[in-house]
Formats: sequence, C-alpha cells, structure tokens
Amino acid sequence: MQKDQKPIEPLLITPDAPVLGGVHGGRAKCLQRLVRLGLPVPPTVALDFAAVRGIASGAYVDGGALLEAFAPDALVSVRPSSEDPDWGGPGTILNIGMNDARHAALAARLGRGAADALYRRFIQSYTAHVARLDPDLHSGAGDIREMLAAFEAEMDEPFPQSPGRQLAEVLRAMAQAWEGTSARLLRQAKGAPPDAGLGLVVQAMALGVGDPAGGESGAGVIQFVSSSTGEPRVTGRYLGQSQGREALGAGGRALYLTRDPRGPSLEDLCPDLFDSLQDHGLLCRRRLREEMQIEFVIHHGALWILDAVRVRRSSRAAVRIAVDLATDGVIPQFEAVLRIEPRALNDLLHRQVDPDAVLDRFGNGIAASPGAATGRIVFSARAAQASAAREEPCILVRRETKPEDVRGMHVSAGVLTERGGVTSHAAMIARGLGLPAVVGASKLHLDHKAGTLTTEDGRVLGEGDVITIDGSSGSLITGAAPLLEPVLDDAFRSLLGWADALRDIGVRANADTPAEAVMARRFEAEGIGLCRTEHMFFEEDRLTVMREMIFAERPEDRAAALERLLPVQRADYSELFRIMDGYPVCIRLLDPPLHEFLPADRAGMLDLARALGLPLSQVADRIAALSELNPMLGMRGVRLGIAVPEIYAMQARAIFEAAVQGESAAVPEVMIPLVSARREVELVKAQIDGVAAAVRSETGRAFDYRLGVMVETPRAALRAGDIAESAMFLSFGTNDLTQMTYGLSRDDAGHFMNAYVSRGVFDEDPFLKLDMEGVGELLSIGAARGRAVRPDIILSVCGEHGGDPDSIAFCRNAGFSYVSCSPFRVPLARLAAAHLAIRDSRNLGNKMPQ
Ligand code: PEP
Ligand code: MG
Repeated sequence: MQKDQKPIEPLLITPDAPVLGGVHGGRAKCLQRLVRLGLPVPPTVALDFAAVRGIASGAYVDGGALLEAFAPDALVSVRPSSEDPDWGGPGTILNIGMNDARHAALAARLGRGAADALYRRFIQSYTAHVARLDPDLHSGAGDIREMLAAFEAEMDEPFPQSPGRQLAEVLRAMAQAWEGTSARLLRQAKGAPPDAGLGLVVQAMALGVGDPAGGESGAGVIQFVSSSTGEPRVTGRYLGQSQGREALGAGGRALYLTRDPRGPSLEDLCPDLFDSLQDHGLLCRRRLREEMQIEFVIHHGALWILDAVRVRRSSRAAVRIAVDLATDGVIPQFEAVLRIEPRALNDLLHRQVDPDAVLDRFGNGIAASPGAATGRIVFSARAAQASAAREEPCILVRRETKPEDVRGMHVSAGVLTERGGVTSHAAMIARGLGLPAVVGASKLHLDHKAGTLTTEDGRVLGEGDVITIDGSSGSLITGAAPLLEPVLDDAFRSLLGWADALRDIGVRANADTPAEAVMARRFEAEGIGLCRTEHMFFEEDRLTVMREMIFAERPEDRAAALERLLPVQRADYSELFRIMDGYPVCIRLLDPPLHEFLPADRAGMLDLARALGLPLSQVADRIAALSELNPMLGMRGVRLGIAVPEIYAMQARAIFEAAVQGESAAVPEVMIPLVSARREVELVKAQIDGVAAAVRSETGRAFDYRLGVMVETPRAALRAGDIAESAMFLSFGTNDLTQMTYGLSRDDAGHFMNAYVSRGVFDEDPFLKLDMEGVGELLSIGAARGRAVRPDIILSVCGEHGGDPDSIAFCRNAGFSYVSCSPFRVPLARLAAAHLAIRDSRNLGNKMPQ
C-alpha cells in the first residue's frame, strides 16, 4: 500500500448495518433494502466509489482479506453498482474462487458436470474481462485442462489459483473498465456526470448448478409487469442447472415461470418456491415502491434472491407502472407524475403506419426512434432548414449524422441514415428529440454528389421525393403511407389528469387548421393560443382568390376579392369554435408578407397569369413590385393591417360572424402581429371595434371579444405599457422576438449556428431554448410594464419555446397565464408544468395532495 493511501473499507450488508448513502451505488443500496426486508440474499459486501476509484488507479487490493467476510470455501461474484443502472458498467463476473482444488472438491460433492460448468464459466469470464484475451481463445474447447493450457500459453503464466488474487484482479479489471474512455462517453450520453462513480458488490455465490440428487438447482429472472406495456404480467424464464441470466438466452430449454400452455413452467415444477418468489416480488413492489426485476437462484431446493433492478421499461410502460403504483396506494399521485420525464411522453405521442395499409417498401434499417414520419427527401441539414422555412415536412437522409447535422434534425420530420446502429449519433439524438429515425439502412446507396438514394432493387430516389420512414419497425416506404394517430391509453390520461390538477399555469395549443384543433383537443389543450390565419390560405382554391386580392390595384377589385374570402374565413373560424367547444380561440390577423402567396418561378407565374386572365408580363411586374429585400422586416404583420386595412376588417368580420352563429359561449380573441408602436394598436383597435359594432347591429346579437397584441419586436416589449392601454392581453411571440433581439435571421441562422454553439458563443440555439438573459429580460420588462398599466392583463408565450420545460419554468416564475405550443407538445407541457408546481410546493414545505 502506498503511504498516503486509505485502506479499502468494505461494508458487510446486514439488516443493522448503517443505511447506505449515495457512495456505494444503487445496486448496493437496493441489496441492503432486500436484506432489511428479510429476503434470502446471500452474504454481500459493498465497496464504495472512493475505494473503486483507488483500485482503478492502482491501489493494492487484499483480495484474501476481502474474502474473509465469506465462508472459507465460498465462491463469490462481483457486480457493478453505479448510481443509476442505466449508465451501464462492467458486466457481472461469477464463480470467483474456482481453482483446481475447488474444482476437484466440487466434482466430488456435486458431480463432475456441475464442477466443470462452474470452472468453465469462470475461466471464460476471466480470460475475456480480466486478462482481456480474445474470448474466442476457448471456442470449441470444452475441456478444463485444455482451457487452462490455452490461457497459460497466451499469458506465459498459469491461470491464477489463489482466490484472493483472482478477486483482486477482477476488482481491478472492473474498476478500470469503468474509467475507460468509451465507457465514460457512453454513460455521459445517458446523462451521467463526468465524475460518476462506481461501487462494486461482492456476493457469495448461490450456485444454481448442483447435484441433481440434492434437489432442484437453477437460475432465473422474474418480473411482474410487461416491459413494453407495463400491464401486470409475470415474465421471465428459469433454467435448471444454470447461473446468472442464462435462462433468458436459452430459448426452448428454459421454463416459463407461470403455468403456460406452450410448455412446462417453474410453477408446475416447484409450486412452493414459485409462491415464495411471487410473495418476494409483491413485498419488493410495496416496500421499494417500484416494479423490480428479480434475479434468483434455486440451489438444492432453496430459493435465493441475488439482485433486484428496476424493470426496464418503454415510456408507455413507465406511465402505466407509475399510474398503477399510485392507484394501488403504493405511491402518491404526485410522485407518479414526477416519475415520468416530460420528454418521455414523446414516445407515446407518435404516429404509426397503418398496419392494414398496402405499402410499397423500398428497404429497411434499424428501428432507432419510434414513430412514423412522411416527408420529402433532403440530403443536408441546410436543405432541411430550407424545407422547414417553406413549412414542407422533410426526411433528412444522411450516410451518418454528426453534430453539425443536429440543427437540421431539429426541423426534420424524420431521419434516415445509411450507417450506424441503435446507439449511433443519429439514433441517440433522434430519440432525444422524439423524432422518428431509421438508421443503418446499409442496403441503400447514398450518392451525395449525384443527390440520389438508390435502393436494393435499383430504384433511384432524389431530393424532393416523398417517403415515409417507420422508426418503430425500421421500414422504409415510398410515398405518403397512411398513418394512424397515437393511442392515448387510460394510464396516459390518468397521469395527465393528475398533472392538470397539480399545475398552476395554463397550456394552450398553436393550431391553424381544424385538423390541428382536433389534435389540440385530443391532447386536452385549454384552448388555442395562436391560430396563424395565413396557413388557412395555402389550399389551391383559396390561394387563387387570395392572389386576386393581392393583384387588385383598384380598391373595388380588392373589395370584390375580399368579399369572396369572407365566407371561406367565416367557415374556418366557425369550425374552430365548434371544435374548441367553448375553450378560448386566439386568432392572429394575417402576418406574412403578401409576396409569400405569389409564385417564385416562371412556371408558377404562367399558371397564375392564366388563372387571372392577365398577361405574364403584368404578373411578373406586380410580383417584382411586391418583392422586398428583407421581407421578414418588411410589409408583414400589423403593417399590412395599416397599409391595406380592408384585409383585417374582413378577417374581424369573419371572426365575429362565426362567433354569433355558433353555440359557443367563448369570447373570441383577436391578436395583432408584429406590433412596435402604440398607434398601430390604436388604429387597428378602432377599426375592429367598428366591425364588431356593425356585426352587433346587423345580427342583433350581443357578443364580446378580446383584443390583444403579439409582442414580437423589442420595441413592443419596451413600450408594453403604451400597448397595454389598448390590449387586454399580450402574447410573446418568442420566435420573432428572438430573431429581432439578436438580429439573427430565423431562416439563415443555421449556416453558422453550429459554430456558435460549438465555440460556446451560445449555450444552445436560442430558437430552441429561450435565451433567459436577453429575450427573457425583454419578456420580464414587457410583462411588468404591461401590468403596471393594466393589472389584469393576460400574459402568455406562443413561440416554439412554449413547449420547452425550461421556458415554461421561466413563464411560470414570471406569473404568465399560459404557454401555447404545437399540439404534440401539449402533453409534455402539461406534465412539465405539473413538475414545476410539485417541486415548488415541496421546496416550500407544502403538503401535496395524495
Ligand atoms: C413568433 O414569432 O414567436 C410566433 C409565434 O409567430 P410566427 O412563428 O408565426 O412568426
Ligand atoms: Mg412571429
């Protein structure tokens, strides 16, 4: 031992040993709890993080002294015990202590077959994981002598015979494996901190391989819920004369656990042991307050519990398990809510390919991130961003992805890669984003230069071709496959119902069309926070009328076109009010520059000239006249309303007429976009009040409406006091507000965003994560100044940030009434908001409802 080295202090886990804190890892802690519950756990010793770290950096380990905690002839296992089992770690090593002498003794006691099996397993593990020799060294060699000779030939020394030395070497190898670069990167990708520690657990072996005359021996794994759905079901396998998890890979040789028509079961074979196992499982569930997977051994008719880990689970199963635990009174409802990470809901919310559809598959790959997505092929992150700017869903197709592709992935509907596996960059990032992904589609040939994707059967797909990827099955399909909306089961509804009861900030949806409104209601949004009306005009029949309106040079021609748009808009709004069934609907008046409605190429211009009965040259001239050098800062938003007031008048009339027609008692909300000055609001308000008065007198129906302003320019935030004089609500459009605060183009920032994030200028793309310091300060200023003038002003956020948990936290702290986000993010926002309320209330020491 080096001079200043602390001796390793192993801790024998007994019912009255001090309760393990955080420094021995989760497995040691769990084993201690099993011991305290009185479960039959073999003697176990735990080594803490500091000890293991010391071993990894070369500290001497007295394996012989460690073995003194066990019976003199005991074999032992060593298991990793990290803080979170999901962080991975070195594999368990069994049968440490096997040597020639014990082999002979065990052969006499248990029979030659059992002794050989125990020794063989240990030599194999030691060769591969401790000596780090090629595991194939022993392939084909069944004979112990041959294995020992092969080991000696490779290592130039005999296989170690001292149990103490064997144990010391195993501990050293496991400790060093944890410190390896790839292990470190892998666990950090799963959320482990850079200094995550590893504990190790040394446990006496319950062998599971024994003398058949001595009673049943074998090993198995049992859990009491399905890992994929979370529903109660005993699953697992048991294999006689086996160890560890062999039963799980043994196919038909292994037994089912409960009686099963497909074959013999442990319940048939050892009904009493099976009953005890079930009792132990129930006790674990109740007292550990979790669904556990239990590793057990039967040795000569006695049952041993070696280990219990949280059942691995899909997101769907996680929700079901948490809800069932709360329903059974094992945990309170608020804890069930807290146990589900908001982002995990993404997995439950994705579309699936209709299983009954006839599909044209062009290949398949690894199903890397669940859900199905349809879109046009793009071959670069930049093309993905351009596609998103056109609001065209796209599938990003890459050989493999790198960090610089992440920004493109964010805006894609799905990702397809030629290379990579389930832990590839593309797969991990896509799962994190809740984005459907198929990776490792190696039979496809991607030619970047030519911009083609060639399938195994020789078809050539190019940029712009529509495909569907199924990230749940790995299928690749040409065209737009029929998709089924996700099934939101009872557990999902219960959990979100509990979350709703606990949260204290509203969640609305951004929904522009009736289909999106239906989705918003399915996800139980409390209204529409932003209906972008321009999205209603892109359908072919409407576009033509819209274009006529834009082309009109004389007021009477424009009025005629608007007259035709009025019923179309009225029907749109009526439909939204009907679907939202009394929930508030906030309609934003037309925002984008008019030339966005006009064709950009010659073919489109020709079509338009034909439709309007105008010469091509006149169409081209008008388009040129309307085009702007910087349209995002040009004739859009309220500027359109001021310059061409008839458009907003028509929209307001359509909204009010729809409101008086329907049954809904909801007060319509009308929102003015891209405001920067008080006078803009005053002018539009006067006009809209006039329309409301006219509709009231024409229809004889009284109705109210709320007029509000979208705060999207820094000036609007700074002058929120002025604006609040005429506005009953302020909704912060953080997309434009971020763009204008940074002077950063929403459409072009992708070109350098990577460099900015990787060089640490920005922690994250501010269009994804609200910039709390800058944009956030404008929100705070706007909120304070608005409130100073109108104390009951309603405040909200409706930019993309509305669905991000950190931004929701910001809005909640600032006392906003609600956030509004795309319908698919609504459940996540509801859950995230509940987490915030629960954590706050706990910090304040308040009691949560049970
Ligand atoms: C915004 O700017 O934040 C916003 C919600 O509006 P849009 O994204 O339509 O510009
Ligand atoms: Mg905007």
